[in-house]
Amino acid sequence: MSVSRVAGDPPTIAEAGRRLRSGETSAAELLAQVLDRAHRTEAQLHAYLTVDREGAAGAAAQADADLADGIDHGPLHGIPVALKDNMCTRGVETTAASQILSGYVPPYDATVVRKLRQGGAVMVGKTNLDEFAMGSSTENSAYGPSYNPWDIGRVPGGSSGGSAAAVAAGSALAALGSDTGGSIRQPASLTGLVGLKPTYGTVSRYGLIAFASSLDQIGPLTRTVEDAALLLETVWGHDPLDSTSHAGPYPEPRSRLGQGVEGLRVGVVAELSGEGYEPAVERAVTEMVEALADAGAGIVEVSLPTFEIALSAYYLIAPAEASANLARFDGIRYGHRGDGETSEALMARTRAEGFGPEVTRRILLGTYALSAGYYDAFYGQAQRVRAAIQDDFAAAYEKADVLVSPTSPTVAFPVGARVDDPLAMYLSDICTIPSNLAGHPAISVPVALGDAGLPIGFQVMAPPLGETVMFQVADAVERLAGFTAAPVLREVPA
Ligand code: GLN
Repeated sequence: MSVSRVAGDPPTIAEAGRRLRSGETSAAELLAQVLDRAHRTEAQLHAYLTVDREGAAGAAAQADADLADGIDHGPLHGIPVALKDNMCTRGVETTAASQILSGYVPPYDATVVRKLRQGGAVMVGKTNLDEFAMGSSTENSAYGPSYNPWDIGRVPGGSSGGSAAAVAAGSALAALGSDTGGSIRQPASLTGLVGLKPTYGTVSRYGLIAFASSLDQIGPLTRTVEDAALLLETVWGHDPLDSTSHAGPYPEPRSRLGQGVEGLRVGVVAELSGEGYEPAVERAVTEMVEALADAGAGIVEVSLPTFEIALSAYYLIAPAEASANLARFDGIRYGHRGDGETSEALMARTRAEGFGPEVTRRILLGTYALSAGYYDAFYGQAQRVRAAIQDDFAAAYEKADVLVSPTSPTVAFPVGARVDDPLAMYLSDICTIPSNLAGHPAISVPVALGDAGLPIGFQVMAPPLGETVMFQVADAVERLAGFTAAPVLREVPA
């Protein structure tokens, strides 16, 4: 079997947009390039569950025709984007990587999908994820794992691992993921991308297949900080179809790009270091903090003691909400249906056949935590921890404008390394979960290569609706790091 390198770096959204408007390229050509990438890499990466060639070709043709007519739909016009397969797409199968939804074709678009269409984006297809977004490696997908373009013996992270693999490989120029406990930021970190979870309520959850509704947020995975802002601005905004949607006003993520960090106070979180963190990860974070100090930022060490119990609270709240959200999958209305003489037997059979082991574990855990007699001891207690985390954050933001930490305690781990140890898998999200519990924005920016030449992400957290300062600092981090490494993609002919 011959193996050759797949050449050429894909453009950023910003660069592709310039080329489109100067007539140097077309939406059809950009699409052909990403599809060619997919063709050469999918056999190894399995980033996609569905590639919508027909729909994408139609959207690209429309984008080209519109531009020729002088109609410009904005920064995403003509850009090939991938969607995590837990966002409903009208007429295109949407499975959440679960057997229970195999064959489900939604009759409507999620709000983010509608906004992308209105913004002229070209949707390439639906990317792989851990079943119902429960996991940190994409190994919980009912359709088989995705692999990391930097090293196909390693996971791309999760649960938005397919989205991360697609963007890192150039089989999409950007992607949307969802982040309940870290599922955008951790895969971005493990694949050398920028990934962000915006403030809770700023991106509509309408049409996102719910995991834990009080934590779920959709956000971008891109190759640069600027691209992340462009994609975020396209998909966010008030939506009456989501009862938790933020009415406004909305921050301006790009207004302080390029302004540096002079005079800003950067808080280093004491709790997010030490045991369990790879030395190369800690070194990369320390070096970036020093670089920020040299660039004029004031560095303060902050302590948020409740971060130590955030993971435990998350693993009560998220499964509790999941157990309620997943009750709707009964084999009656959509997806897979098992056999059964009675409706009860049919539902039981459907669920036993349709849900994988991790989803079953969460449903059992969540149902138990919510049951009469245990509710206050478990769920009630976890909600009190959540409130305490918010208080800790508030106190820290009196001393600092942003907080920083690693995104993930380790670089991408080998496929199979954590599948038999749920706790080890859960620890992957130790740095990302607090922002979900508080509803605050956080972004991961690649800063260095660590063990085995794999990327390390640097996390910048900000107060609610603090996207402007978060992007200001992320942009400075990106410039200071000068991270230009890219995976060496190898083509394996089928
Ligand atoms: N890994 C975490 C979990 O399994 C977070 C998942 C997510 O953010 N969707 O719950």
